[in-house]
Amino acid sequence: MRLPAPFPTDERTELLNPNQPAAVRGDPASGPSRDEHTRWADTLTRTRQPGPFRGTPHWAGLQPATLAVHAGTQDDAATGAVGTPIYQSSTFLLEADQYRSIEEGYARDRFIYTRYGNPSQWAVEEKLAALEGAESALVFSSGMAAISATLLALLDRGAHVVASSELYGGTYALLQGELPTLGMSASYVDPRDLAAIEAAIRPETQVLFFEALTNPLLKIVDIPGIVAIARKHGLRVVIDATFATPIAMKPLGWGVDVVVHSASKYLNGHSDLIAGVAAGPRKLLDAIWPRRLAYGGSLDPHACFMLERGLKTLPLRMRAHAEGAAIVAAWLEQHPRVRRVYFAGLPSHPDHALARRLLANPTGMVCFELDGTDAHAVALLEHLQLAKKATSLGGVETLVSLPFNTSHAAFTAHQRERMGIRPGCVRLSVGIEDPRDLLTDLAQAIECAFGA
Ligand SMILES: *Cc1c(COP(=O)(O)O)cnc(C)c1O
Repeated sequence: MRLPAPFPTDERTELLNPNQPAAVRGDPASGPSRDEHTRWADTLTRTRQPGPFRGTPHWAGLQPATLAVHAGTQDDAATGAVGTPIYQSSTFLLEADQYRSIEEGYARDRFIYTRYGNPSQWAVEEKLAALEGAESALVFSSGMAAISATLLALLDRGAHVVASSELYGGTYALLQGELPTLGMSASYVDPRDLAAIEAAIRPETQVLFFEALTNPLLKIVDIPGIVAIARKHGLRVVIDATFATPIAMKPLGWGVDVVVHSASKYLNGHSDLIAGVAAGPRKLLDAIWPRRLAYGGSLDPHACFMLERGLKTLPLRMRAHAEGAAIVAAWLEQHPRVRRVYFAGLPSHPDHALARRLLANPTGMVCFELDGTDAHAVALLEHLQLAKKATSLGGVETLVSLPFNTSHAAFTAHQRERMGIRPGCVRLSVGIEDPRDLLTDLAQAIECAFGA
């Protein structure tokens, strides 16, 4: 049996952004009615359409907690089953409309083959776009697939990127190892130094790439300040907002061109899948989409279902992460064996003023320095019973890792020290457990680590 077409052409105008004037939407009621065949081409020359979306965007103007539950999610039209079905199909029946979309270059708006697009992808993409306040979003098989497709879409041969000197290791490897093979290059600057960022711009610079919060010291990057520099020089800004999530900030609202995430972290939130997302205007996402096709970083429909389910509790989880982290950070700050604590919600955070201005949620990330050595930090990890010793972040379970033997193992102790990562540095991704249990666990582990 063939299910009803999820995206009937005659409903197309309903799927468009209701905030656009009717004339721009090509609303048949507002102008001369056109043959559906030419109407598509006509609207495309006047404006890029948002989407593709499967549902009517009746969620416009709703709050994040509501969007997280409802946006993009589609009940099954065939059976009435609540929630988006998992469209575990590699390919779709081709009819005249699909053939035409291939011929006329709008295959992104039809279901043809799952690497191109799939209803399970569209559902979660619509939810992500709604949460980011974006016209359009694309999901990828990993955060790195999203970042690489985005950068390769925005850069020409010979182009240069100005990026943070405190990048995620995988992104650094992409910029440093892969871009040069395509005739592109990058340079790295202190993400908190706007003058240095501007000074690093060259005639061939095309993109400024920064992470919203740095790892592991959680410095807050002045994204509106970076956007102002980009505007002045006609450059694009890409922000990796993995640590922040759309609950903490909506970088597109500040004029950022594309926001990317590793959805493997807070967005999915359960440490059980790898995925990525890029969100922004349809015009740019249309340029990123062919890179998803060419480099093959498409997200499997089952993983889309899991990510969509994870996203439904994102606002709830972020509140719990932030509340737990605030309690843990305040407790650590008064502990005699702790020298320093970094948490965006603490008044002692070096960028606290910026954090208050830019972050609606301080996240669950806490970094602290034991009043000891890396050996004390290793001993602390050995004695922790609840917190899991693992890299990654943003899951419901508290994760703990040491920058010196994970993310920053490639640097010497001296280089780490110059970055501000001193001996005894511990990174905590505070989960959603009861913070009292986390404190009990930390208290006994710190005591054991110092041999008390
Ligand atoms: C994890 C992470 C990535 C890479 O994401 P994957 O899903 O592992 O490919 C990129 N940026 C940041 C900030 C990350 O934490």
